[in-house]
Amino acid sequence: MDSPIAAVDRQIANRRVGMRTKGPLAHEVLAGSLEIRTVRDLLHHYPRRWIDRSQVATIHDLRVGQSATVIARVKRVTKRLTRRRQSMVTVTLYDGSGYLDLAFFNQPWAASLYKEGSELAVSGVATLYRGRLQLANQEVELLRGEDAETVHTGRITPVHPATEGITTRTLRELVFRALSGLPRIPDPLPAAIVKAEHLTSYDEAVRKIHFPQSQEELAAARERLKFDELFTLELGVAFRKHRVEAAEVGVEHSPEGPLVARLLATLPFEPTDAQRRAIREIGEAMARPRPMNALLQGDVGSGKTVVALHAALVAIQSGHQAAIMAPTEVLAGQHFQSMAALLGPFAAVPFLEMAKAGVVAPGQGTLLDALSEPDPDDGDRPAVTYALLAAAVTGKDRARILAGVADGAVDLVVGTHALVQEGVEFRDLSLAVIDEQHRFGVHQRMALKGKGGSPDVLIMTATPIPRTLALTYYGDLDVVVLDEMPQGRQPIETRIARTAGERRRAYELIRAEVGAGRQAFVVCAAIDEANRSEVKAAEAEAERLAAEVFPDLSVDVLHGRMRPAEKERRMQEFRSGRSHLLISTTVIEVGVDVPNATVMLVENAERFGLAQLHQLRGRIGRGEHRSFCILFDESKRDNLEARARLDAMVRTMDGFELADEDLRLRGEGTLFDVRQSGMPDLKLARLAEDIDLVKRARARAFAVIGEDPELERQATLLDELRSRFERSIDWLFHS
Ligand code: ADP
Ligand code: MG
Repeated sequence: MDSPIAAVDRQIANRRVGMRTKGPLAHEVLAGSLEIRTVRDLLHHYPRRWIDRSQVATIHDLRVGQSATVIARVKRVTKRLTRRRQSMVTVTLYDGSGYLDLAFFNQPWAASLYKEGSELAVSGVATLYRGRLQLANQEVELLRGEDAETVHTGRITPVHPATEGITTRTLRELVFRALSGLPRIPDPLPAAIVKAEHLTSYDEAVRKIHFPQSQEELAAARERLKFDELFTLELGVAFRKHRVEAAEVGVEHSPEGPLVARLLATLPFEPTDAQRRAIREIGEAMARPRPMNALLQGDVGSGKTVVALHAALVAIQSGHQAAIMAPTEVLAGQHFQSMAALLGPFAAVPFLEMAKAGVVAPGQGTLLDALSEPDPDDGDRPAVTYALLAAAVTGKDRARILAGVADGAVDLVVGTHALVQEGVEFRDLSLAVIDEQHRFGVHQRMALKGKGGSPDVLIMTATPIPRTLALTYYGDLDVVVLDEMPQGRQPIETRIARTAGERRRAYELIRAEVGAGRQAFVVCAAIDEANRSEVKAAEAEAERLAAEVFPDLSVDVLHGRMRPAEKERRMQEFRSGRSHLLISTTVIEVGVDVPNATVMLVENAERFGLAQLHQLRGRIGRGEHRSFCILFDESKRDNLEARARLDAMVRTMDGFELADEDLRLRGEGTLFDVRQSGMPDLKLARLAEDIDLVKRARARAFAVIGEDPELERQATLLDELRSRFERSIDWLFHS
């Protein structure tokens, strides 16, 4: 059966956009650059802004410089040629209170259009020309008949996004005509929601978004249409979440067990409350029969590693395998080391060492019972075998690990994302931890599916995602937040440096800190000049600093083009304190942990995004000493967005606050791959500003799905979903 909206949609869709005398191009322009083919498309082409011309002024009261709308009759029309032989038409208006001129250059037809006696509505800016009052930048509309309705003037006038070949004036006229001929549009939202949320009807909203009669009407129309956008998005998220959960059977893990108990008993620190909460929430999610899809967000240094390891141990003590994947080799190596440190008190052994010692032959597939001595407290002493599958591991070693992963001898494998891409076979993977750091793709996680059953997935990111994004584009994930830093983190003083003097002082600061036994980072950005890559920039800067500024210090360089072993060697030099100063590209952004480093200089900081700057800064302030971050800004004065970013860095250390600021500055369309995701665009709603609407829409959408998960009784909504999620229909239907 046809739903009412589908019927009217078709009715609307079938009305072609009317083209009057706008030339042959107009139609193509509409369909081409604006993608407007139907009246429906046209009505969804919302105004970019509105100009309030609703207050009609009398000519007598006009002041020079004032923007005003005037309604008056044509008194006289004169035509002449200017000295440059351009035609010039002057139309003089009279409204009973005074005279006003309109000038038309090179528009000879104006003389025949605006005849003596005809009534015009005109908006523009009052100016004085040769002692006579004139209206400049005017928008003119011919009023026909007594009660003629103005389209362009005398009202709150919409300005629709236009493009070459079609003016906003033409668009405005098209929309006006489309609306005046349109029957009432049925409401796609359930009436109960419209009522409970005190929303304007859909029909009213569509009309008033284009031609409001007051600011209040405009606000109500915007709220209604924003609500609809967010509601549809949330409905899709809820719809998918339900289908995923209904369709897949996951592993019911046991969160309580010997490995977890031992981890908590042997931690070298007291977990923060946030860590305890995250551990509990993830444990609960892993215990459920449905596969977990969780997102763990926590700032750099908030202590995600132990949460990830805890999840891995839950998988292992439940008799399965776990994988932890990082975006770079350096970071994978670092994870491996942190895991090894935390696993130290266990009877845990790196798999390779074990295999080399002949304890287990690949293929044997046993745990380490044979190796570990019985523990008096705990007869069945837990054991874990773990391995690093890095690019540097090759040949026989690699084959051993791969075999161990395949037959289950390796419980925990750490590697880069390539673990998944290269098709490593697991015997029984039940937990995949994906450390995204700041790269984070909505759909990337899907690649994991099919790696043996339906493993629970824990995605970690150090880029705090604004709450609104977590509720919308990532709204089908369980979001777990580490919003508390471990005790004893030192504050970082952040400054912006723009002058030569400030640069000199920054170098003095480095010298003083190194003198006190500390170390420093200098981060270089890619330079746009031809052929000067980030790598070259770092190398050149290292040479310059070593030769000219710090000849007495030990300066080293690190960049992504180096072989992994070389990178590791230089990192080791720095970690051990043998080099004082590490000049690097953004490779250090991820996973460098050197608590003794207390200074970071960022060259061309204006080129970095806020998330990246925040990540970079997270590399210092990790030890017991006070730290300093100097952001060099060589941007032009008018690069306001860059300035706003750097100011935000100085203002706050809170990653969630910075994420909100980033969203506000850039808009959601450019952030996180929302664009590629194929999820519906938001035309009116702004996530950074509409958090309250997001929450309301989400609550309603989840309630609808809760009652009718397949939308069997809501054909209208199902239709809406299908059409709005057209480009991500597979995602929606989870196929
Ligand atoms: P993240 O991965 O979130 O950036 P890590 O897990 O690497 O953070 O932790 C950063 C540092 O803080 C590590 O040296 C870790 O041992 C330490 N750490 C983690 N949790 C705590 C805690 N609760 N108390 C003290 N130190 C902690
Ligand atoms: Mg980490």
